[in-house]
Order: sequence, then structure tokens, then C-alpha cells
Amino acid sequence: MKVSVVGAGLAGCEAALQLANSGVEVKLCEMRPGKMTPAHTTALPAELVCSNSLRSDQLHNAPGLLKEELRRCGSFLMKAADICRIPAGGALAVDRIEFSRTVQSMIANQKLITMVNEEVTAIPDGEVILAAGPLVSDSLTDSVISLTGSDSLYFYDAIAPVVDFESIDTGKAFFQNRYESESDSRADYLNCPFSEDEYRNFVRELKAGERVTTRDFEKEIHFQGCMPVEAIADSGDMSLAFGPMKPVGLVDPGTGNQPFAAVQLRMENKAGTAWNLVGFQTKLTYAEQKRVFRLIPGLENAEFIRLGSMHRNTFINGPAVLDSRMRLKSDSRIMFAGQITGIEGYIESIASGFLAGKLMSGMQLFPPAETALGSVLRYSTETITQNYQPSNINFGLFPPLKKKPRRGRRARREAQAERALEGLEKWLSEIPSMKKCVDPGR
Ligand SMILES: Cc1cc2nc3c(=O)[nH]c(=O)nc-3n(C[C@H](O)[C@H](O)[C@H](O)COP(=O)(O)OP(=O)(O)OC[C@H]3O[C@@H](n4cnc5c(N)ncnc54)[C@H](O)[C@@H]3O)c2cc1C
Repeated sequence: MKVSVVGAGLAGCEAALQLANSGVEVKLCEMRPGKMTPAHTTALPAELVCSNSLRSDQLHNAPGLLKEELRRCGSFLMKAADICRIPAGGALAVDRIEFSRTVQSMIANQKLITMVNEEVTAIPDGEVILAAGPLVSDSLTDSVISLTGSDSLYFYDAIAPVVDFESIDTGKAFFQNRYESESDSRADYLNCPFSEDEYRNFVRELKAGERVTTRDFEKEIHFQGCMPVEAIADSGDMSLAFGPMKPVGLVDPGTGNQPFAAVQLRMENKAGTAWNLVGFQTKLTYAEQKRVFRLIPGLENAEFIRLGSMHRNTFINGPAVLDSRMRLKSDSRIMFAGQITGIEGYIESIASGFLAGKLMSGMQLFPPAETALGSVLRYSTETITQNYQPSNINFGLFPPLKKKPRRGRRARREAQAERALEGLEKWLSEIPSMKKCVDPGR
């Protein structure tokens, strides 16, 4: 068998190395340097396009747990990251050039990988892993549309923050669907009611909040119909009260009246542990999101599982078009991997590439649902939602614990991590070949 891997980014490099390590011949196609993306600046594989941090390296954080699982499974890019690590407290930051060069050497030393520097404009014949990333070239995008249909391909993400349910003050926020004046804990929405003073103060702080600078290639985003919440506030002080914060059809059980405005939260996962701020996609910086959104009545002590963002990002509706093995339902020789499947982040893309490489080389057993790897796989192939948006790894994607520790959030995260690593070790013991990562050298 010979597999074509399109894109020598994070997912593509990991997938290619895993395939070659399992004895599969690989043609790894990368369009740089002949054709660059708007964010990449080098000709090197596995380029980190923005931050040089792979985020937390601590087990009670979901990205830290995912990294530990990847290490235990023999991920090549995780090994490269550990080799190129630079001091960054509890996070894993790397020297980005050394990281890419280390991956480049791993690929060069792997005889079964042939690297080809040319743009792929049509889907290659035979078995393919498409890992062309969020900035996939236009001609290949057209080929992807012909496979998935334009309804299943999106060009930017508009992510609203997600809050841990246990951190919401349900003494203030109330469960109620619009136009159903009775409060009911089975309602689909949780509403945070504002008085006029609270609303005006919130709008003032939202408008003043520091924003992430928009890059040139992202400027078209706002014209595509999805405005950041602060841009709506900029258009008029009452715009939010007539838009995503409209109070019509709601009765605050605390006052018996319609609130002046309301923020609605909708369940983000089946377990109801994570709730999404409806219509609150934002370009505020992460620090400002925490400060400003904690002014929402009921969210004063909110713990954010995910913060909002908006940027150019081409991705397919993974759960609609992929099967559980990341293969296209309509053409099973094609597998998708990396951010293009609708996961988000460096480490998540490495994990997705790892899974694609293993699944393409014949791995039969899936990682258990309670592991971070299982959560990445299930998010991009099984999530049922009307509005599929890219997601980082977070504990909201994991099945809830059967028995919660009493000591609070940190203890709960530690228990989730412990359960995940136990599940991972059991899984690894069932597929002994998994840990056999033969380092092709640096
Ligand atoms: C501007 C920007 C900033 C980001 N910043 C961060 C951050 O700070 N932290 C974080 O965790 N995540 C960040 N991300 C998100 C994401 O994790 C990265 O984009 C990550 O690199 C995705 O990995 P990937 O392997 O899916 O795609 P990439 O790493 O982008 O790899 C895809 C590769 O495919 C190649 N390619 C594209 N089209 C073709 C074609 N037709 N033929 C051949 N090759 C092709 C590209 O040149 C590229 O090398 C950012 C994303 C963007 C767009």
C-alpha cells in the first residue's frame, strides 16, 4: 500500500511518520515554498504559524493530558516538541525553528517517506490523507467542495465562549425557553437577566475591551453574516438588546417581569456540564473576555472551558461527512486529518494526524471515550450539533465522571485525567505494537 498525505503541517507530518513507522510507503505533498499560505513564512514542515506554545503541560488541564497521552502512544511530533522545549513555566513552549527542523530530519531519515514540494490541486488517486490545514489552497478547496458539498465546508470559525455549568450562579440565571413563561430545569436555555443599569455598564465595558488585531486575510469575515458581539455593540448602544441579548418572551422568576436584556446560554454537551453563550462570538482578547463576560449577572464567577474567537479557517463538517475512522462517507479511500476536520489547535492537530496515521495503517481498536485522544476523535466524527464549530480539547468533551470528587474543580479534573490515563494504558496493553515508535533519528 502507498498513501498520499497532502500537507506537511502538524497533522500531515505526524500521520506520515506513523504510517512509515508501521511499514507503509508515503508520498508527502507540501506546496510550500512554491506556494505559501497567508500565515506560513518558511519552507519547513510542521511550522507553528503563530504562538510557539503548545499550551499547558499539566495533567489537570485537557491540553496537558492530551500531550501526555501522545507521549505514551509514541507520537513523533510530541517527541520533537520535548526535544526542542524552552522554559515556559507550566506550559510546553518550543524553539519553533528547531522544532520544524527536528521534524524535517525525522522525515528525511524515514526511507518510506518521499517528500514532494508541489501544490496538490486535485485529490490524488489511491489512499489519501488530506491534512491541508485551515489555510488549504483555493484549487484544492474546490476539489474538497466537490467531495463534501458546499454545505459541509466552512471558511471561518465564529466561536462563542463556553462556561462550566457548576460555576454559573443559578440563583440569578434561570432555565426557561422563550415564550414559555414557566421556569423549568429541563428547558433548553439558561438566561442571565440584566437590569437597565447592568446592561448599560456591560455595553460600555464591552466596547472598551481590548480586541485581537484582524489580519488582512481575515477581513472578509464580518461580511459573511456573523458579527462579533463587540462589533454589534459598536453599531449602537441598544443593538444588543434588539439582537443576541433581546429579552422578549422571557420572564425573570426573581422579579416576575421581563428583564431589560438577557444573555442566553445553550447546552454544549450531552452531559450538560458545559454551556455556550449564544451569539457571543468575539474578537476580544482572552483576558478581556474573562473580565467583561464576568459582568454578566450569574456569570460573576464563571470558569471558561473555552474562550471565544473568530478567524479564517477552512473546515469540513466532520461529523456530517466522516465516518468513525475519519474516512469520507462518500469515498472511503479519503481520510481527513488536522484542523480541516473541525478540531482546533496545534496539539489537537498533531493528535488528529496521529489517529489518521494509525487508523490508515490498520489500527482496529479506537481509543476509549474517556481519553483525550478518544475525545478528539469523537468530536470530529460524532458530535451532533446544528452549528458545528472548531473546538480545542477541553474537559467538556469528555464523558462526565460517574462519581464526582467533593473537593472542587481541580480535584475533578485530576480524577478525569487519572481515569483517562488508566483507560489509555488498558487500551495500549491491548495493542502492544502501539508503543513501538522507532525513532528515525534527528
Ligand atoms: C493564523 C493562524 C494562527 C494560529 N495560531 C495558533 C496558535 O497560536 N496556537 C494553536 O494551538 N493553534 C493555532 N492555530 C490553529 C491550528 O492549530 C494551526 O493552524 C495548525 O497548524 C493546524 O495544523 P494542520 O496540520 O491541520 O494544518 P497546517 O499546520 O496548516 O498544515 C497544512 C499544510 O498543508 C499545506 N497545504 C495547503 N494546501 C495545500 C495543497 N493544495 N497542496 C499541498 N500542500 C498544501 C500548507 O502549506 C501547510 O503546510 C492557528 C491557525 C491560524 C490560521
